[in-house]
Amino acid sequence: MELIELDGSTGEGGGQILRTSLALSMCTGRPMAIQRIRAKRPKPGLMRQHLTCVQAAVAVCGGAVEGAELGSQTLVFEPGPVRAGDYAFNVGTAGSCTLVLQTVLPALMLCAESSRVSLSGGTHNPMAPPFHFLERSFAPLLRRLGVGLDLELRRMGFYPAGGGEVSAVVHPATAGLQPFDLTDRGPVQDAYAECFAPALPSAVAVRELAALARALGWSGEQLRTPAVRQNEGPGNALLATIAYAHVSEVVTVFGEKGVSAEQVAGALVKEVRVFQASEGALGQHLADQWMLPLALAVVERGGAASFTCTELTGHATTNIGVIEKFLPVRFDVDLTETHPRVRVMAANL
Ligand code: AMP
Repeated sequence: MELIELDGSTGEGGGQILRTSLALSMCTGRPMAIQRIRAKRPKPGLMRQHLTCVQAAVAVCGGAVEGAELGSQTLVFEPGPVRAGDYAFNVGTAGSCTLVLQTVLPALMLCAESSRVSLSGGTHNPMAPPFHFLERSFAPLLRRLGVGLDLELRRMGFYPAGGGEVSAVVHPATAGLQPFDLTDRGPVQDAYAECFAPALPSAVAVRELAALARALGWSGEQLRTPAVRQNEGPGNALLATIAYAHVSEVVTVFGEKGVSAEQVAGALVKEVRVFQASEGALGQHLADQWMLPLALAVVERGGAASFTCTELTGHATTNIGVIEKFLPVRFDVDLTETHPRVRVMAANL
């Protein structure tokens, strides 16, 4: 099969080009070569987390790889046949382990059998999908496509200590993938905020939640402080979950040394307001992550499927470019309304 060549400095120029291309190389069996990996990041090339993604891809399909070294800015990958099974991947640093799952999930969800994947590393990282986002926003949409993704958070992992543990069971779509349109959120069903602050003084969570509640007008019942173990920290993630009938959004911000609890809450409130002010069904992160499984479903079934989103980010447009290189689909982006509308259609339409 013809080699697909990618330039890792295109568009957003980050790790997503690598993960999406590894995922689709496994799904399609097409070999790939990528140059200038993560060229637009301060430390370009493969970092631990990205190297673990490459190693995970090789473990799942037994392919051949060149350039799988820390710091490498080029990679050649020739995938073998994808095998369902029991896998364990350890990032070895606080790098995001959910992004490793993102790499192997598309291939595993197309297998005939279920797989179990144990992951360790960071579970709540800035610039990566936090565990609770995957569980509440992403997995329910995947379920509507026909794929079961059962997730369990065994231990939280924050930068810089890492050490988080996630277990994922992937149940492929037995009746085939079912693409669907997602163009409105439906009515609000629930909204709540949670503060995870292991190994930090309890006042941090109290102040963050109080500031958030004041700004958003949320009541005491909407504020939660889930139990955390001290040895899971130190770390601080403040989450707002808004569940609508058709989709749920999880907005996350992270506390940092030198940033007050009120500033952390303020950052979250700002993001929640932006999301609430839009009528786009998917938030910006869900939008870029939803494209790949939806495109696979459209390839399998034919036809087209659409979604609307609050914003089409550089991650989203870059992902479209990579997906169109691997799959016989076309994306049509309509920016004439108040929020973007994205349609993915089989290339022969
Ligand atoms: P990259 O920056 O190329 O490594 O890609 C990061 C990925 O993480 C993208 O798919 C983002 O949408 C996703 N991501 C970043 N921040 C969040 C967040 N707060 N919630 C969910 N996903 C996120």
